[in-house]
Amino acid sequence: MRRHRYAKIVATVGPATNTPEMLKALFLAGVDTFRLNFSHGVQEDHARIHAAIRALEAEVGRPIGILQDLQGPKIRVGTVRDGRLDLAAGERVRFVLEGTDGGKDAIPLHHPEIFAAVVPGQDLLIDDGRVRVRVVGLGDGTIEAEVITGGTVSNRKGVNLPGTLLDLSPLTAKDRADLAFGLELGVDWVALSFVQKPSDVLEGRALIGDRAGIMTKIEKPQALERIDDIIRLSDAVMVARGDLGVEIPHEDVPGRQKELIRACRLAVKPVVVATQMLDSMVSAPAPTRAEASDVATAIYDGADAVMLSAESASGRYPVEAVAMMDRIIRSVERHKLYRSIIAASEPGEEETPPHAVATATAVLAEAVHAAAIVAYTASGTTAARVARKRPAVPILALTPDVGTSRRLSLLWGAHSVRTDDVDTYEAMTADACRHAQAEGFAKPHDLIVTAAGIPFHTSGNTNNIRLIQI
Ligand code: PGA
Ligand code: MN
Repeated sequence: MRRHRYAKIVATVGPATNTPEMLKALFLAGVDTFRLNFSHGVQEDHARIHAAIRALEAEVGRPIGILQDLQGPKIRVGTVRDGRLDLAAGERVRFVLEGTDGGKDAIPLHHPEIFAAVVPGQDLLIDDGRVRVRVVGLGDGTIEAEVITGGTVSNRKGVNLPGTLLDLSPLTAKDRADLAFGLELGVDWVALSFVQKPSDVLEGRALIGDRAGIMTKIEKPQALERIDDIIRLSDAVMVARGDLGVEIPHEDVPGRQKELIRACRLAVKPVVVATQMLDSMVSAPAPTRAEASDVATAIYDGADAVMLSAESASGRYPVEAVAMMDRIIRSVERHKLYRSIIAASEPGEEETPPHAVATATAVLAEAVHAAAIVAYTASGTTAARVARKRPAVPILALTPDVGTSRRLSLLWGAHSVRTDDVDTYEAMTADACRHAQAEGFAKPHDLIVTAAGIPFHTSGNTNNIRLIQI
């Protein structure tokens, strides 16, 4: 079973879709990787969904990726008097470190690191930026602030501090417990939320090792300042536009999206564009024109994958949302301007032999109109280097590693297949021809191009190309 598109679809599982029947419907509609959002639900629910996805994988005979998204240090106000406070612009309010059910003069904020880091003049954004207050004074365990944009603050609403580097680990006690649980289940990717600096990724790596890929969510302006190091230390990146769009001005998000996609392509790291892509499909059977355009833009930008959040987790039309995304991606990829736009946004070459070999593979495959590029890949890097070129030829990624085959479900253009380990060049070639036909990519007399690193079992040494007629 092959999909007729290059870019991938990630869908968040939630109350609307957490049954085996719905998971299968989502997969058949086009989902390549499922996201388990640990900001919601309990561990037992996630374990049940994980098991259902693995059962689905066995049933359909295709590797499916599972992404565990950790909540991270999301800052929230505590409980307020009567559950809600209506703040008016110009009003004075006070945040306090201790207490519960406070009024406007004692809004609980149980986060000492905020009190340690803020200075007068900085803004606190509450409830996805709907309410904005500006710090005007600091006391002992208190923050005095003036309301800039009024609105309602209700219990446990989120707080963002755009201009402030907070002394926070990206992994809370809850995250650590969830992470241990997820690794035990065998998730393929772990997403780290609210990463601020390169050492945050290293902190995740110390716990995760190579048991799962690390996907760093870019949703803080502080992360943008050290972005190259952060990307280098990560295995994949998410352009997390929900929080990013609160922390930086709306008008800067599209440019940042393009920048991040390009930087990830240069670094050979898969990049996912996330949040509000088809948001109105939470409650309507069709998206707005602007939303269709947003998904298309991410594809023209060269993203590896686009993601659904509430649309698939709790919306009324989850399968329709996936099907819509699938149709938009395929339409873009068939459009006559797509190739030239993708080529124009290609980042400069990295001048290393493995990159040059991957580039030559893509160029050769396009020149001979090959039916497929077959990348023989243990860690997935050979396939990723070829995908970086965004060739107009599908990439069949053969790997003996089940974890790699699942992680590749995020990579642009890659159709991954688990194979037996091979020891000889002849065995690899035979495998390539067999799978290219069995998976529906090639028929007798078609040309395929193989890319591999030889000797086998050494990762990262893409050094071999071969043109084969089946
Ligand atoms: P979230 O992350 O849905 O976990 O907040 C994505 C985003 O912020 O865009
Ligand atoms: Mn977020």
